[in-house]
Amino acid sequence: MMDNYKHKGLRKKLIELLREKGIENERVLDAINAVPRHLFMDNAFINFAYKDQAFPIGADQTISQPYTVAFQSHLLEVKGGEKVLEIGTGSGYQAAVLLELGVKVFSIERHRSLHKKSKQKLEELGYKGRFFFGDGFEGLPTFAPFDRIIITAAAPRIPEKLIEQLKVGGYLVIPLGKGESQQMLRLHKKAEGEIEEEKFGQFSFVPMLENKSFSS
Ligand code: SAH
Repeated sequence: MMDNYKHKGLRKKLIELLREKGIENERVLDAINAVPRHLFMDNAFINFAYKDQAFPIGADQTISQPYTVAFQSHLLEVKGGEKVLEIGTGSGYQAAVLLELGVKVFSIERHRSLHKKSKQKLEELGYKGRFFFGDGFEGLPTFAPFDRIIITAAAPRIPEKLIEQLKVGGYLVIPLGKGESQQMLRLHKKAEGEIEEEKFGQFSFVPMLENKSFSS
C-alpha cells in the first residue's frame, strides 16, 4: 500500500475540515498533510483513514482523531529541534506528525505488540524517533529533561515523575480525568516547583493505565 493521489486528495479535504473546526496553525496543518495516516491503520479501516475520527488499532486501543492530534500538537508550541516525550505511541501517528514538525521524538508504549508494530512502521516510512516499551508514568529518566511532554491517553492524575522530567520553561500537554471525557490541560513549568495551568476543552481518550502488569 502506497501513498497515492487519492490519499493526497483526501488529506487535503481533511486539512480543510480541520481549518473549519478551528485549527489555524499552518505548521501543524502542513505536518498533518505530510503524514499518510492510512498507513498507520488496519486494513479494515483504511478507507476511513481521512475521516476525522478515532479508529481501533488492536489491543483495545485507538489511533487518535486528527483534530485531537492537531490540537495537542498546536498546544506543544514547537519551533523545531525540541526534545519531545510522548506517552502512548499507539499507532505511531502522533509521533510521525511530531517528527514532521522537526522535533526529536522519544515515545513510550506499554503494549508490547503496539510498540513493536508502530516502531517497525515508523522505521519503514523513514521516521527517525526513539521508541520504548515501558510505563509512561515512569517517563524516561535516562533521556530527561524534555522541552515538551505530550500524553496521548486519559491520565487519572498528573504523573509527578513527568513534571520532574520537564525542563524549566517547558510545556506538558495532558488530557486529565477518569470519566468518559477529559479536560485538556497545558502545564507550564515556570521554575522548579512553579507550575502554571491552562485549561482547554473536553476530549475523549482511552485510559492511561497504571503499571500493573504489562500486556503483550
Ligand atoms: N498517540 C497514539 C494514540 C494512542 S491511544 C496514536 O497516535 O495512535 C493511547 C495509547 O497509550 C495506547 O496505545 C495505550 O496502550 C497507551 N498507554 C496507556 N497507558 C500507558 C502507559 N502507562 N504508558 C505508556 N503507554 C500507555
